[in-house]
Amino acid sequence: MGRRKGGNKALAPSGQKTSPDADGMNLDGGKEQEEAPEVVAIEEKAESSNLEDSPLIGSDKTSADYYFDSYSHFGIARSLSLIHKPFSARLLASSRKRREMLKDVVRTKTYQNVIYQNSFLFKNKVVLDVGAGTGILSLFCAKAGAKHVYAVECSLMADMAKEIVQTNGYSNVITVLKGKVEEIELPVAHVDVIISEWMGYFLLFENMLNTVLYARDKWLNNNGIVLPDKASLYLTAIEDAEYKEDKIEFWNNVYGFDMSCIKKQAMIEPLVDTVDQNQIVTNCQLLKTMDISKMAPGDVSFMAPFKLVAERNDYIHALVAYFDVSFTKCHKLMGFSTGPRSKATHWKQTVLYLEDVLTICEGEAVVGSLTVEPNERNPRDVDIMLKYSLNGQHCQVSRTQHYKMR
Ligand code: SAH
Repeated sequence: MGRRKGGNKALAPSGQKTSPDADGMNLDGGKEQEEAPEVVAIEEKAESSNLEDSPLIGSDKTSADYYFDSYSHFGIARSLSLIHKPFSARLLASSRKRREMLKDVVRTKTYQNVIYQNSFLFKNKVVLDVGAGTGILSLFCAKAGAKHVYAVECSLMADMAKEIVQTNGYSNVITVLKGKVEEIELPVAHVDVIISEWMGYFLLFENMLNTVLYARDKWLNNNGIVLPDKASLYLTAIEDAEYKEDKIEFWNNVYGFDMSCIKKQAMIEPLVDTVDQNQIVTNCQLLKTMDISKMAPGDVSFMAPFKLVAERNDYIHALVAYFDVSFTKCHKLMGFSTGPRSKATHWKQTVLYLEDVLTICEGEAVVGSLTVEPNERNPRDVDIMLKYSLNGQHCQVSRTQHYKMR
């Protein structure tokens, strides 16, 4: 997937060396975000990696067909034949993808800072790392003084994590357990801290959150904590004529042939891509905040109303969703945002193209609702229903659109 013209200034080329003094903080100031949780805006100095997505179409496999196995791939060739757009970096966690996730310094440095700068949360505590991957978060926790860390990882990467733990001299503190969180037996009845990096594209794609909630309900002490403990989803609207033309309208005339049947498919698949902040036409609306320490698994399904008020005369081609996560149990609130005004992360943003091009005047509002729920057949996929209407001077429209993230 190409980068948008005049793309996010914060983007650094993939694979570039990262700054050693990166603080990994990336929270939006909350200025443009209605009802946003009060967060501290911290200048991001570090560079982040930026994964390229593969424009693959075809196959009606869902992510369940390859999810667990694919996390352990060292090459992506086999998976490529199985997948749909958007190409999920996290689903195909080959060593290259693992590296790129780790090199996402906004992500990884934030976790590192949360752990190192709040060692009081970890000292002599029993920690559970849900979906440990290479074991990086477990290593941070061990270094911060945890009494014991149980690192649970269901993919073959668990074997690597064991070796990594040993190589780094933490075998006495970290126990790597290979298996699904839902199936393994933990050697202890309770843990004090659950840490996990479970977020998917559009926050909920891959729905690993339910695995964290399962672990919380089964093992977390009454006064135990979950890190991160808050996640919020936001929506805004963008001008995106050039990209809509390139990604969607392209199918109308392909070397003289009508391939618009593919256009229908392209429309229902949200596009994971970075959006330039200059494309934003309206305010950014908070849709939903999830409190990971309290929420029920069913809360991942929700309907949220929105009102997006134009800040200038422009056209709207798409709505854009993004999320932030925060660690409110830290001495000082910490977290990061994946919004277009923040430094880019490997989650980029999620673009929902509209059937209509909206001609909007400053002060007019697109109102509607977004309904989000896990797909019935495969709960790791996400079904999205968008209802929107605009009753403006130059444009009156009302429509319902359905999207599927898979
Ligand atoms: N904690 C690591 C990896 C995060 S990616 C890091 O921060 O770099 C999420 C990991 O969770 C993947 O490695 C995936 O294989 C694992 N995972 C997903 N669902 C799981 C489950 N139900 N049980 C155990 N591991 C799971």
